[in-house]
Formats: sequence, structure tokens, C-alpha cells
Amino acid sequence: MQIASSSAHIRRRGMMLVLSSPSGAGKSTIARNILDEVPGFELSVSVTTRTRRASEIEGVHYHFKSVQDFEMLRDNGELLEWAEVHGNCYGTPRKPVEEAIAAGRDMLFDIDWQGAAQLREKMPDDVVSIFVLPPTMSELLARLKRRAEDPEDVIATRLKNARFEIEQWRDYDYVIVNRDLNGAFGEVSAIVMAERLRKERRPGLEDFVAGLLAEKPD
Ligand code: ADP
Ligand code: 5GP
Repeated sequence: MQIASSSAHIRRRGMMLVLSSPSGAGKSTIARNILDEVPGFELSVSVTTRTRRASEIEGVHYHFKSVQDFEMLRDNGELLEWAEVHGNCYGTPRKPVEEAIAAGRDMLFDIDWQGAAQLREKMPDDVVSIFVLPPTMSELLARLKRRAEDPEDVIATRLKNARFEIEQWRDYDYVIVNRDLNGAFGEVSAIVMAERLRKERRPGLEDFVAGLLAEKPD
């Protein structure tokens, strides 16, 4: 689905679109769809101490780091937020985000509720947050198993943590149920379109309206 815009020429500040969900609910799949289908989005590539999955590419899905390197980045203030999730550390590199937002480019974050809370606190005007729920707990387990990229004990930990993660839904601006992918993607696209039109994100409107009012119609 392509989002057309009749006012793309008006200068704006980028948004930070945060997607969170219990593991397996489908946020990475939705995130991939947005990156493929909605022009103007880039992914915030996190650093993590987790082991790489077979399908993952260094620098594309994550920057895979040793615990020591992760701690160095964190202690040097190079991470905008960080958290321990399912026994591994994850964090968001600061520089690419600050550059993108200032240049009017939107960024997508696939991060957990702890990271979302930190970003909301630090950059409240820039963050738009969406929580993705699974349709049922049985379907959540089925999806974790179907992904087939994590060992049994890792799947069990993730399912055990899901209940607590789901309880964080109230802190988000929007909540969607990922029953079918098209429906969920359509809802996220609608949120993106509306949020891009918020006047607070569009400093260029001042000049645009001033120009309109200065115009002498023929
Ligand atoms: P998360 O990033 O939330 O951990 P993923 O995006 O990796 O979850 O999705 C987990 C699994 O569920 C993947 O195999 C994915 O293809 C599948 N999946 C995602 N959304 C749906 C959906 N709406 N219907 C069926 N399967 C889905
Ligand atoms: P996974 O190991 O399945 O890729 O991710 C596990 C969890 O960590 C997911 O909930 C994912 O959103 C979250 N996560 C990934 N990157 C970051 C990050 O940079 N910061 C935080 N706080 N969570 C992250």
C-alpha cells in the first residue's frame, strides 16, 4: 500500500514510530511491511548481545556485539535507550535517530516496552507508539514455534514473559490486534498517515500558510 501525500513539500520533523509486542505477535513482520511499502521510513538497527539467528544479517537486523562492547557503547552515552530483554541486552544507537528526525525522515523502532518508555520520556513529542497484540495466546505460541528459529527453552521463556509484556498495553498511543497481516498493516498505515499530518510535526506549515496569505489571486 503506497501512501500518497499532497503536502510532501512542506518541511516537517520526522516521527519515531515505536512497535512493541510480546515476542511472536508479529511486530517484526509488520515492521518489514512498513519498510517495504511505506516510502520514507528507515529502521533503527539496534545493538544486541543476543546470538544471531540463522536468517539474520549483521548490520541489517541488528549489530551483534559482545557484552563488553555493548557496555562500552552504553557507558559512552551512545545509546538512546537500552534494556535487558529475555536475558540479553538490547539498545538503540543515538546518532542515526537524531540525524533522521532532524532531517524530516521517519524512523521505525522494533523495541520492547522498557525501551518505548525511555524514548517517550526523552523525546515525548517525536514518539508515536503502537502495541501489537496476538489474537489468542494459543496463536502466539503457534507463531513462536512456526518461526522455528529459537530453541525450545528460549520459546518457553518468551511465552512466560508474554503475559507481563501484554500488561504494558495501556502505555501505548495505539493498540492493534494482529489477526491477519493485511488488516494489521492497513491499521498501521492509517496511523502513519494521520501522524504525518499532525501540525506539531510540520514546522514548514508556518511558511506555507504565510505564503498562501501573501498571494494575490488572479
Ligand atoms: P515478533 O517480531 O513480534 O517476535 P515475528 O514478526 O517474528 O514476531 O512473527 C512471528 C511469526 O509469526 C513469524 O513466523 C511470522 O511469519 C508469523 N506471523 C506474523 N504475523 C502473522 C499473522 N497475522 N498471521 C499468521 N502468522 C503471522
Ligand atoms: P528478538 O530477540 O526477538 O529480536 O527481540 C526480543 C525483544 O527485544 C523484542 O521485544 C524486541 O522488540 C526487543 N528489542 C529489540 N531491539 C531493542 C532495543 O534496541 N531496545 C529495546 N529496549 N528492546 C529491543
